[in-house]
Amino acid sequence: MTDRVRIAVQKNGRLSDESTKLLKKCGISFNKSSDKLFLRSSNMMVDILMVRDDDIPKLVHQNIADLGIVGENVLKEKLLADKTLNIERETKLGFSKCRLAFAKPKDLIDADLNNKKIATSYPAIVEDYLSKNSINAEIVEIHGSVELTPFVGISDMICDLVSTGITLESNNLEECYTVLESQALLIKSSKIEVSKSALIKKIVSRINSVIEASDSKYIMFNADSKDIESLVDLLPAAESPTVIPLANKNKVAIHSVCKEEIFWETIEALKFQGASSILVLPIEKLAH
Ligand code: ATP
Ligand code: ZN
Repeated sequence: MTDRVRIAVQKNGRLSDESTKLLKKCGISFNKSSDKLFLRSSNMMVDILMVRDDDIPKLVHQNIADLGIVGENVLKEKLLADKTLNIERETKLGFSKCRLAFAKPKDLIDADLNNKKIATSYPAIVEDYLSKNSINAEIVEIHGSVELTPFVGISDMICDLVSTGITLESNNLEECYTVLESQALLIKSSKIEVSKSALIKKIVSRINSVIEASDSKYIMFNADSKDIESLVDLLPAAESPTVIPLANKNKVAIHSVCKEEIFWETIEALKFQGASSILVLPIEKLAH
């Protein structure tokens, strides 16, 4: 068995670009090539498996891949469909956000799911939802063009992924109930070999640092010393700020990491409270 760590990511689709970008930000160098399914990193003991997203949970369960990046929707479907799967959930990655929702044709007045035919690519999740809510409906499993099915007599309603709702709208459908909120997730095999565990720990920790940094901002501004407390109170999720004296004795510079987005409203409130020269910078990596 090789000591190289294997990471499974989606080859082509809505998870692909962000997944490979994330791995590159973690310092893993590799060249993406459209015809290769197996990418060897040139600088780390890492190989990337380019596969269909549906195959990722099983590859991680079987320990063919040590890590994988997959949508929570796909992971949940696979876990419900096969109770023997043993996979560790690591980190929510903040991209490919979408929701699985029921939708009905606009001219169908009744949104009750009872006694309806529901087309979906997620039969196990829908089945679970129906049984938990004591709804009696028929599930029609279909992969692809789910939005068309109510108009060709295959179904009455659908349960499909939605992000903006534009696709539903343009297919004359209306969203009714959300079943699941989803985003990309880092998953890990529960059977990591000892020889790989240090490198896997390092990669997971780097991924966590990149994700934490992407939500965080670095803010700097000048202020009168008397205003320090009221200004610091305005900072969202601030880690204990640094206060630096300036040449002008009554003035200080305040620097802080904020673990949330800093909105215009916060900047305006800081200004109103006396802050000047406000600078907000993105953070690339945040390690503890
Ligand atoms: P594959 O060929 O790998 O099986 P696919 O057609 O199943 O691809 P994609 O459409 O690329 O999958 O979607 C991959 C994942 O991206 C979905 O499982 C979901 O987690 C997420 N996703 C799906 N639709 C959207 C959307 N509209 N916006 C954002 N993320 C989405
Ligand atoms: Zn898929």
